[in-house]
Amino acid sequence: MKNIYVTQPFLPPLREFVPYLEQIWENKWLTNSGPFHQELEKELADFLGVEHLALFANGTLALVTALQSLQITGEVITTPFSFVATAHSLLWNGIRPVFVDIDPITFNLDPDKIEAAITPHTTAILPVHVYGNPCNVEQIQVIANRHGLKVIYDAAHAFGVKYKGESILKHGDLSILSFHATKVFNTFEGGAIICPDAKTKKRIVDLKNFGFVDEVTVVAPGINGKMNEVQAAFGLLQLKHIDKVIDRRRQIDAQYRKQLISVTGITCPPLSIEATSNYSYFPVLVEKEYPLSRDALYEKLRQCNIYARRYFYPLISEFPMYSGLASSLSSGLPEAHSISLKVLCLPIYPGLSCSDQMKIVKIISEE
Ligand SMILES: *Cc1c(COP(=O)(O)O)cnc(C)c1O
Repeated sequence: MKNIYVTQPFLPPLREFVPYLEQIWENKWLTNSGPFHQELEKELADFLGVEHLALFANGTLALVTALQSLQITGEVITTPFSFVATAHSLLWNGIRPVFVDIDPITFNLDPDKIEAAITPHTTAILPVHVYGNPCNVEQIQVIANRHGLKVIYDAAHAFGVKYKGESILKHGDLSILSFHATKVFNTFEGGAIICPDAKTKKRIVDLKNFGFVDEVTVVAPGINGKMNEVQAAFGLLQLKHIDKVIDRRRQIDAQYRKQLISVTGITCPPLSIEATSNYSYFPVLVEKEYPLSRDALYEKLRQCNIYARRYFYPLISEFPMYSGLASSLSSGLPEAHSISLKVLCLPIYPGLSCSDQMKIVKIISEE
Protein backbone atom coordinates (compact mmCIF):
# COMPACT_ATOMS: atom_id res chain seq x y z
CA MET A 1 0.00 0.00 0.00
CA LYS A 2 1.32 3.45 -0.85
CA ASN A 3 2.26 5.98 1.78
CA ILE A 4 0.17 9.10 2.31
CA TYR A 5 2.20 11.93 3.78
CA VAL A 6 0.92 15.09 5.45
CA THR A 7 1.90 16.91 2.29
CA GLN A 8 3.36 16.18 -1.10
CA PRO A 9 4.75 18.86 -3.39
CA PHE A 10 2.83 19.83 -6.50
CA LEU A 11 5.02 19.09 -9.53
CA PRO A 12 3.90 20.44 -12.91
CA PRO A 13 4.46 18.11 -15.89
CA LEU A 14 8.22 17.79 -16.46
CA ARG A 15 7.92 18.80 -20.12
CA GLU A 16 6.70 22.24 -18.98
CA PHE A 17 9.97 22.76 -17.13
CA VAL A 18 12.30 21.73 -19.96
CA PRO A 19 12.09 25.04 -21.90
CA TYR A 20 13.17 26.93 -18.75
CA LEU A 21 16.20 24.66 -18.37
CA GLU A 22 17.07 25.10 -22.04
CA GLN A 23 17.06 28.84 -21.54
CA ILE A 24 19.38 28.58 -18.54
CA TRP A 25 21.76 26.39 -20.57
CA GLU A 26 21.61 28.97 -23.33
CA ASN A 27 22.24 31.99 -21.04
CA LYS A 28 24.85 30.30 -18.85
CA TRP A 29 23.68 32.67 -16.07
CA LEU A 30 23.16 30.29 -13.14
CA THR A 31 22.81 32.55 -10.10
CA ASN A 32 23.45 36.11 -8.80
CA SER A 33 20.20 37.78 -9.85
CA GLY A 34 19.82 36.18 -13.27
CA PRO A 35 16.88 36.78 -15.63
CA PHE A 36 14.56 34.19 -14.04
CA HIS A 37 15.40 35.54 -10.57
CA GLN A 38 14.48 39.07 -11.67
CA GLU A 39 11.29 37.86 -13.33
CA LEU A 40 10.20 35.81 -10.31
CA GLU A 41 10.73 38.77 -7.96
CA LYS A 42 8.43 40.85 -10.16
CA GLU A 43 5.78 38.17 -10.67
CA LEU A 44 5.67 37.20 -7.00
CA ALA A 45 5.36 40.80 -5.88
CA ASP A 46 2.43 41.19 -8.30
CA PHE A 47 0.78 37.94 -7.27
CA LEU A 48 1.16 38.63 -3.56
CA GLY A 49 0.20 42.28 -3.81
CA VAL A 50 3.39 43.66 -2.28
CA GLU A 51 5.92 46.13 -3.62
CA HIS A 52 9.36 44.97 -2.53
CA LEU A 53 10.44 41.38 -2.27
CA ALA A 54 13.93 39.83 -2.15
CA LEU A 55 14.34 36.13 -2.99
CA PHE A 56 16.42 33.80 -0.85
CA ALA A 57 17.89 30.30 -1.08
CA ASN A 58 15.57 29.23 1.77
CA GLY A 59 13.29 30.67 4.43
CA THR A 60 15.73 30.22 7.31
CA LEU A 61 18.40 32.35 5.61
CA ALA A 62 15.67 34.92 4.93
CA LEU A 63 14.82 34.99 8.67
CA VAL A 64 18.46 35.23 9.76
CA THR A 65 19.08 38.02 7.24
CA ALA A 66 15.87 39.89 8.15
CA LEU A 67 17.07 40.11 11.77
CA GLN A 68 20.57 41.16 10.61
CA SER A 69 19.19 43.87 8.34
CA LEU A 70 17.36 45.56 11.23
CA GLN A 71 20.35 44.99 13.53
CA ILE A 72 18.20 43.26 16.10
CA THR A 73 20.05 42.37 19.32
CA GLY A 74 19.34 41.49 22.95
CA GLU A 75 15.96 39.79 23.47
CA VAL A 76 13.16 39.07 21.02
CA ILE A 77 9.64 37.99 21.95
CA THR A 78 8.45 34.99 19.97
CA THR A 79 6.18 31.94 20.04
CA PRO A 80 7.07 28.41 21.13
CA PHE A 81 4.36 27.04 18.79
CA SER A 82 6.22 27.07 15.49
CA PHE A 83 8.79 25.28 13.42
CA VAL A 84 12.16 25.35 15.15
CA ALA A 85 13.74 27.63 12.50
CA THR A 86 11.82 30.60 13.96
CA ALA A 87 13.83 30.52 17.20
CA HIS A 88 17.03 29.17 15.60
CA SER A 89 17.21 32.35 13.51
CA LEU A 90 17.48 34.27 16.78
CA LEU A 91 20.27 32.07 18.18
CA TRP A 92 22.20 32.43 14.89
CA ASN A 93 22.12 36.18 15.55
CA GLY A 94 23.18 35.88 19.19
CA ILE A 95 19.70 36.97 20.31
CA ARG A 96 17.87 35.50 23.31
CA PRO A 97 14.39 34.23 22.46
CA VAL A 98 11.70 35.08 25.02
CA PHE A 99 8.75 32.72 24.61
CA VAL A 100 5.24 34.06 25.17
CA ASP A 101 2.10 31.91 25.26
CA ILE A 102 -0.34 31.55 22.36
CA ASP A 103 -4.00 32.31 21.90
CA PRO A 104 -5.91 28.99 22.10
CA ILE A 105 -8.21 29.96 19.21
CA THR A 106 -5.72 31.23 16.62
CA PHE A 107 -2.63 29.35 17.92
CA ASN A 108 -0.70 32.60 17.33
CA LEU A 109 1.26 34.69 19.83
CA ASP A 110 -1.24 36.11 22.36
CA PRO A 111 -0.87 39.91 22.18
CA ASP A 112 -2.33 40.30 25.68
CA LYS A 113 0.70 38.47 27.10
CA ILE A 114 3.43 40.30 25.18
CA GLU A 115 3.86 43.38 27.36
CA ALA A 116 4.58 41.42 30.54
CA ALA A 117 7.56 39.85 28.75
CA ILE A 118 9.15 43.13 27.62
CA THR A 119 12.40 44.07 29.40
CA PRO A 120 14.97 46.84 28.77
CA HIS A 121 16.76 44.32 26.48
CA THR A 122 13.76 43.67 24.22
CA THR A 123 14.28 44.99 20.69
CA ALA A 124 11.72 43.17 18.56
CA ILE A 125 8.74 40.81 18.29
CA LEU A 126 8.92 37.76 15.99
CA PRO A 127 5.38 36.38 15.62
CA VAL A 128 4.32 33.55 13.27
CA HIS A 129 1.11 33.38 11.21
CA VAL A 130 0.62 29.75 12.21
CA TYR A 131 -1.02 27.58 9.50
CA GLY A 132 -1.43 30.82 7.53
CA ASN A 133 -3.93 32.30 10.02
CA PRO A 134 -3.13 35.98 10.53
CA CYS A 135 -1.79 37.17 13.88
CA ASN A 136 -3.55 40.05 15.59
CA VAL A 137 -1.40 42.44 13.58
CA GLU A 138 -3.10 45.63 14.79
CA GLN A 139 -2.65 44.91 18.47
CA ILE A 140 0.93 43.73 17.97
CA GLN A 141 1.75 46.97 16.12
CA VAL A 142 0.25 49.09 18.91
CA ILE A 143 2.45 47.32 21.46
CA ALA A 144 5.53 47.60 19.23
CA ASN A 145 4.96 51.33 18.73
CA ARG A 146 4.41 51.92 22.44
CA HIS A 147 7.74 50.26 23.30
CA GLY A 148 9.80 51.15 20.23
CA LEU A 149 10.11 47.55 19.04
CA LYS A 150 10.56 46.16 15.51
CA VAL A 151 8.14 43.50 14.27
CA ILE A 152 9.31 40.73 11.96
CA TYR A 153 6.68 38.24 10.85
CA ASP A 154 7.59 34.64 10.15
CA ALA A 155 5.02 34.28 7.36
CA ALA A 156 6.41 30.93 6.15
CA HIS A 157 2.85 29.50 6.17
CA ALA A 158 1.08 32.57 4.84
CA PHE A 159 1.80 32.57 1.09
CA GLY A 160 -0.97 34.47 -0.70
CA VAL A 161 -3.02 35.15 2.43
CA LYS A 162 -5.06 38.34 2.28
CA TYR A 163 -6.21 39.99 5.49
CA LYS A 164 -9.02 42.56 5.31
CA GLY A 165 -8.52 42.58 1.53
CA GLU A 166 -4.77 43.22 1.55
CA SER A 167 -1.66 41.07 1.68
CA ILE A 168 -0.89 39.95 5.23
CA LEU A 169 2.78 40.42 4.29
CA LYS A 170 2.43 44.21 4.46
CA HIS A 171 2.32 44.21 8.25
CA GLY A 172 5.26 44.74 10.57
CA ASP A 173 8.71 45.94 9.52
CA LEU A 174 9.52 42.80 7.52
CA SER A 175 7.89 39.48 6.68
CA ILE A 176 9.58 36.31 5.53
CA LEU A 177 8.25 33.49 3.35
CA SER A 178 9.47 29.92 2.85
CA PHE A 179 9.26 28.13 -0.50
CA HIS A 180 10.40 24.79 0.90
CA ALA A 181 9.15 21.67 -0.87
CA THR A 182 6.52 21.14 1.87
CA LYS A 183 4.97 24.60 1.50
CA VAL A 184 1.99 25.68 -0.64
CA PHE A 185 4.27 27.39 -3.17
CA ASN A 186 7.68 25.78 -3.55
CA THR A 187 10.97 26.24 -5.38
CA PHE A 188 12.41 22.95 -3.97
CA GLU A 189 14.13 25.16 -1.35
CA GLY A 190 13.57 28.89 -1.30
CA GLY A 191 12.30 31.90 0.56
CA ALA A 192 11.85 35.66 0.49
CA ILE A 193 11.84 38.81 2.58
CA ILE A 194 9.03 41.29 2.00
CA CYS A 195 10.07 44.83 2.88
CA PRO A 196 8.42 48.26 2.71
CA ASP A 197 10.80 50.25 0.47
CA ALA A 198 13.62 50.10 -2.08
CA LYS A 199 16.29 51.26 0.38
CA THR A 200 15.54 48.43 2.81
CA LYS A 201 15.54 45.98 -0.08
CA LYS A 202 18.97 47.21 -1.21
CA ARG A 203 20.36 46.54 2.26
CA ILE A 204 18.83 43.05 2.27
CA VAL A 205 20.11 42.27 -1.25
CA ASP A 206 23.64 43.31 -0.22
CA LEU A 207 23.45 41.16 2.91
CA LYS A 208 22.41 38.03 0.99
CA ASN A 209 25.46 38.49 -1.27
CA PHE A 210 28.23 38.57 1.36
CA GLY A 211 27.77 42.33 1.90
CA PHE A 212 29.19 43.25 -1.52
CA VAL A 213 27.90 46.54 -2.93
CA ASP A 214 30.27 46.56 -5.90
CA GLU A 215 33.22 44.48 -7.11
CA VAL A 216 35.63 45.75 -4.47
CA THR A 217 33.45 47.02 -1.60
CA VAL A 218 32.06 44.92 1.26
CA VAL A 219 29.92 46.91 3.70
CA ALA A 220 28.73 44.20 6.11
CA PRO A 221 29.47 40.60 7.10
CA GLY A 222 26.78 39.28 4.76
CA ILE A 223 25.94 35.69 3.99
CA ASN A 224 25.31 33.65 0.86
CA GLY A 225 21.52 33.62 0.76
CA LYS A 226 21.01 33.82 -2.99
CA MET A 227 18.33 31.91 -4.89
CA ASN A 228 19.67 30.27 -8.08
CA GLU A 229 18.18 30.29 -11.58
CA VAL A 230 16.87 26.72 -11.49
CA GLN A 231 14.91 27.51 -8.31
CA ALA A 232 13.62 30.79 -9.75
CA ALA A 233 12.58 29.15 -13.03
CA PHE A 234 10.72 26.46 -11.12
CA GLY A 235 8.98 29.19 -9.11
CA LEU A 236 7.80 30.91 -12.31
CA LEU A 237 6.33 27.61 -13.51
CA GLN A 238 4.70 26.91 -10.12
CA LEU A 239 3.10 30.33 -10.16
CA LYS A 240 1.23 29.40 -13.37
CA HIS A 241 -0.45 26.57 -11.43
CA ILE A 242 -0.90 28.18 -8.01
CA ASP A 243 -4.60 29.15 -8.30
CA LYS A 244 -5.59 25.61 -9.20
CA VAL A 245 -3.34 24.18 -6.45
CA ILE A 246 -4.93 26.37 -3.76
CA ASP A 247 -8.43 25.65 -5.09
CA ARG A 248 -7.88 21.89 -4.81
CA ARG A 249 -6.63 22.39 -1.25
CA ARG A 250 -9.79 24.38 -0.52
CA GLN A 251 -11.95 21.45 -1.66
CA ILE A 252 -10.04 19.03 0.55
CA ASP A 253 -10.36 21.39 3.53
CA ALA A 254 -14.14 21.69 2.96
CA GLN A 255 -14.52 17.92 2.67
CA TYR A 256 -12.67 17.27 5.95
CA ARG A 257 -14.85 19.84 7.74
CA LYS A 258 -18.01 18.28 6.37
CA GLN A 259 -17.01 14.72 7.23
CA LEU A 260 -15.40 15.31 10.63
CA ILE A 261 -18.05 17.60 12.13
CA SER A 262 -20.00 14.61 13.46
CA VAL A 263 -16.98 12.90 15.07
CA THR A 264 -17.14 13.31 18.84
CA GLY A 265 -13.88 14.60 20.30
CA ILE A 266 -12.40 15.88 17.03
CA THR A 267 -12.51 19.64 16.49
CA CYS A 268 -11.52 21.48 13.34
CA PRO A 269 -10.32 24.98 14.28
CA PRO A 270 -12.29 27.51 12.22
CA LEU A 271 -10.68 29.53 9.44
CA SER A 272 -10.26 33.25 10.07
CA ILE A 273 -13.29 35.21 8.89
CA GLU A 274 -11.26 38.34 8.12
CA ALA A 275 -8.68 36.58 5.96
CA THR A 276 -8.44 34.35 2.93
CA SER A 277 -6.77 31.00 3.50
CA ASN A 278 -4.19 29.11 1.46
CA TYR A 279 -5.31 25.83 3.10
CA SER A 280 -1.68 24.97 3.77
CA TYR A 281 -2.45 22.73 6.76
CA PHE A 282 -5.44 20.89 8.14
CA PRO A 283 -5.02 20.81 11.93
CA VAL A 284 -7.52 19.00 14.12
CA LEU A 285 -7.63 18.92 17.92
CA VAL A 286 -8.02 15.49 19.48
CA GLU A 287 -10.00 16.28 22.64
CA LYS A 288 -10.44 14.08 25.70
CA GLU A 289 -13.93 13.05 24.49
CA TYR A 290 -12.30 11.16 21.61
CA PRO A 291 -11.85 7.45 22.41
CA LEU A 292 -8.12 7.51 21.56
CA SER A 293 -5.36 9.82 22.71
CA ARG A 294 -3.84 12.10 20.08
CA ASP A 295 -0.73 9.93 19.94
CA ALA A 296 -2.75 6.72 19.66
CA LEU A 297 -4.65 8.16 16.70
CA TYR A 298 -1.36 9.29 15.15
CA GLU A 299 0.00 5.71 15.53
CA LYS A 300 -3.17 4.13 14.23
CA LEU A 301 -2.97 6.27 11.07
CA ARG A 302 0.70 5.29 10.69
CA GLN A 303 -0.28 1.62 10.83
CA CYS A 304 -2.39 2.38 7.77
CA ASN A 305 0.56 4.15 6.05
CA ILE A 306 -0.96 7.58 6.68
CA TYR A 307 1.66 9.96 8.02
CA ALA A 308 -0.17 12.78 9.81
CA ARG A 309 2.13 15.18 11.69
CA ARG A 310 2.01 16.66 15.16
CA TYR A 311 2.76 20.28 14.18
CA PHE A 312 3.93 21.64 16.61
CA TYR A 313 4.98 19.01 19.07
CA PRO A 314 7.35 19.24 20.85
CA LEU A 315 7.21 23.00 21.39
CA ILE A 316 10.38 24.89 20.43
CA SER A 317 10.81 25.74 24.12
CA GLU A 318 11.19 22.01 24.88
CA PHE A 319 14.25 21.48 22.68
CA PRO A 320 17.49 21.31 24.68
CA MET A 321 19.01 24.58 23.40
CA TYR A 322 15.90 26.45 24.66
CA SER A 323 14.59 24.48 27.62
CA GLY A 324 16.87 26.23 30.13
CA LEU A 325 15.44 29.68 29.43
CA ALA A 326 13.17 31.15 32.11
CA SER A 327 10.51 31.80 29.46
CA SER A 328 10.50 28.10 28.51
CA LEU A 329 8.93 27.02 31.82
CA SER A 330 5.71 25.21 31.01
CA SER A 331 3.90 27.16 33.74
CA GLY A 332 4.22 30.27 31.55
CA LEU A 333 3.05 28.53 28.38
CA PRO A 334 -0.10 26.61 29.37
CA GLU A 335 -2.05 27.15 26.12
CA ALA A 336 0.90 26.26 23.89
CA HIS A 337 1.46 23.06 25.89
CA SER A 338 -2.19 22.11 25.78
CA ILE A 339 -2.53 22.65 22.00
CA SER A 340 0.79 20.93 21.32
CA LEU A 341 -0.55 17.78 23.01
CA LYS A 342 -3.90 17.82 21.15
CA VAL A 343 -3.04 18.89 17.62
CA LEU A 344 -2.70 16.63 14.61
CA CYS A 345 -2.24 17.89 11.04
CA LEU A 346 -3.98 15.69 8.49
CA PRO A 347 -2.79 15.14 4.90
CA ILE A 348 -3.72 18.01 2.58
CA TYR A 349 -2.17 18.54 -0.85
CA PRO A 350 -3.48 18.83 -4.41
CA GLY A 351 -2.59 15.24 -5.34
CA LEU A 352 -4.57 13.71 -2.45
CA SER A 353 -7.34 11.68 -4.08
CA CYS A 354 -10.93 11.77 -2.84
CA SER A 355 -10.78 8.07 -2.06
CA ASP A 356 -7.60 8.45 0.00
CA GLN A 357 -9.17 11.34 1.88
CA MET A 358 -12.27 9.25 2.60
CA LYS A 359 -10.01 6.46 3.87
CA ILE A 360 -8.42 8.91 6.33
CA VAL A 361 -11.84 10.16 7.45
CA LYS A 362 -13.08 6.59 7.90
CA ILE A 363 -10.15 5.60 10.12
CA ILE A 364 -10.72 8.67 12.32
CA SER A 365 -14.50 8.26 12.54
CA GLU A 366 -14.71 4.49 13.14
CA GLU A 367 -13.45 4.79 16.73
C1 LIG B 1 9.23 26.08 6.82
C2 LIG B 1 9.36 27.07 7.93
C3 LIG B 1 10.52 27.86 8.12
C4 LIG B 1 11.80 27.59 7.43
O1 LIG B 1 11.81 27.66 6.09
P1 LIG B 1 12.89 26.86 5.23
O2 LIG B 1 12.60 27.39 3.85
O3 LIG B 1 12.61 25.41 5.37
O4 LIG B 1 14.24 27.25 5.70
C5 LIG B 1 10.49 28.85 9.08
N1 LIG B 1 9.41 29.05 9.85
C6 LIG B 1 8.31 28.31 9.74
C7 LIG B 1 7.14 28.60 10.61
C8 LIG B 1 8.25 27.27 8.78
O5 LIG B 1 7.16 26.50 8.71
